[in-house]
Amino acid sequence: MASIYSYKRMAEGEYYNYKKGRGPYLIDVEGKKYIDGVSSLWCNVWGHQFKPLDHALQKQLKNIAHSTMLGLTNTKAIELAEELIKIAPNGLNKVFFSNSGSEAVEVSLKISYQYWQNLGYKKKSKFISFVNAYHGDTLGAVSVGGIDLFHSLYKNLLFDTFKVPAPYCYRCPNRQNNSADSLCCLESINILDNILRKNKDNICGIILEPKMFAAGGFILQPVSFLKKVEKLAKEYDVHLILDEVATGFGRTTKMFACEHENVKPDIMAVGKSLTGGYLPVSATILTNQIYKAFIGNYNEFKTFFHGHTYTGNPLGCSVALANLKCMKKYKLLEHVKKISKVFEKELAKFHQLPNVGDIRFIGLMCGIELVKDKKTKEEFCYEDRIGYKVTLLARNYGLFIRPLGNIIVLMPPLFIKENVLKKITDITYKSIKEFFETYQNQSLCNPKAPKR
Ligand SMILES: *Cc1c(COP(=O)(O)O)cnc(C)c1O
Repeated sequence: MASIYSYKRMAEGEYYNYKKGRGPYLIDVEGKKYIDGVSSLWCNVWGHQFKPLDHALQKQLKNIAHSTMLGLTNTKAIELAEELIKIAPNGLNKVFFSNSGSEAVEVSLKISYQYWQNLGYKKKSKFISFVNAYHGDTLGAVSVGGIDLFHSLYKNLLFDTFKVPAPYCYRCPNRQNNSADSLCCLESINILDNILRKNKDNICGIILEPKMFAAGGFILQPVSFLKKVEKLAKEYDVHLILDEVATGFGRTTKMFACEHENVKPDIMAVGKSLTGGYLPVSATILTNQIYKAFIGNYNEFKTFFHGHTYTGNPLGCSVALANLKCMKKYKLLEHVKKISKVFEKELAKFHQLPNVGDIRFIGLMCGIELVKDKKTKEEFCYEDRIGYKVTLLARNYGLFIRPLGNIIVLMPPLFIKENVLKKITDITYKSIKEFFETYQNQSLCNPKAPKR
């Protein structure tokens, strides 16, 4: 009875109020434990209250919490920049710090644009981005985003970009497989090629999330899609800007997702897991070649006039450094590789469920697409909030997850133990199953609602 009561409370919109975190658990004010199944929004690496990170912060507090990086620098920011360059794809060796993933994306776009301006390519002012892309919620990041539900309201405030359809293999009319020969992959690449051919003199760069369009619905890109995008960026001499904010630091089993295809961006944005989920630090990492375009006499005004108050915050940088150190010490990438095999095996069971249309994952990031009809792939409409209702059931069983529309998102903390991971998949399985056993199709569908 208690569980039905709390389900009802949540259905009425009551939020759970967490007070503490321990390992993979969030603990609410009443002392109830929930597994943190979304890594506190995709950024937690080790679980909560991880001693080495706690200690790094305590130690840094004995020196300084914060001063500015505008006109000064600090030892922790320098050390962190050096460590980032060591692990970043070859050729990326300059670091610009900010505080959130959105800002790291804004900085990437502004640097790319200014690079071309500084070199005298005055016509270059456009970016190519993808439908279903998500790069953050600030206006520049929204301009290169492509999710109508989040973004369409603001369209009068945004700058124009060329939008390429993402290869959504599950909904591709002629699905062959998850390969680059699949028709929608070829189509997407052809459209990109056409845009570049016709507009290359106006284009600064292409921005995308490598391997997985995450917040846009966990759309896994076909193998070698990213490589093809890189090839076109090189061919037409525009920047390849990769947004590794969600995928970076081991989430996909590699340090960065672009390593799966041996792709080397010109500019890379990182955030989320950089501090292990402790503090908001993000970074834009770029090539020396781009950096050099910003060097000149003061009166040439080649400077990148951009800086946030808390840029390079020493507390944030010290915890990020400890996080990167632990990644080596505890062999995080090997752990993720091993545990993602368990994840894969557990996820395979979900195909038995009647309303599970597609399961898309790489490493420890996964989206489970729920559909009305498995054969026709008919979607539930957004207003019915199917994903949300399933996650409320899961919460009742002690798992905190958050959906994206009809997609159930599973993003466990990377250092998760096998038994906790299995608990996440078991509870999710049970919640989907039970939800549809009692589901009565009384749709609130509104055909005028913004389409995703
Ligand atoms: C979360 C996310 C962002 C935005 O990061 P914030 O820290 O929320 O501003 C940008 N890009 C991708 C791919 C993300 O997943």
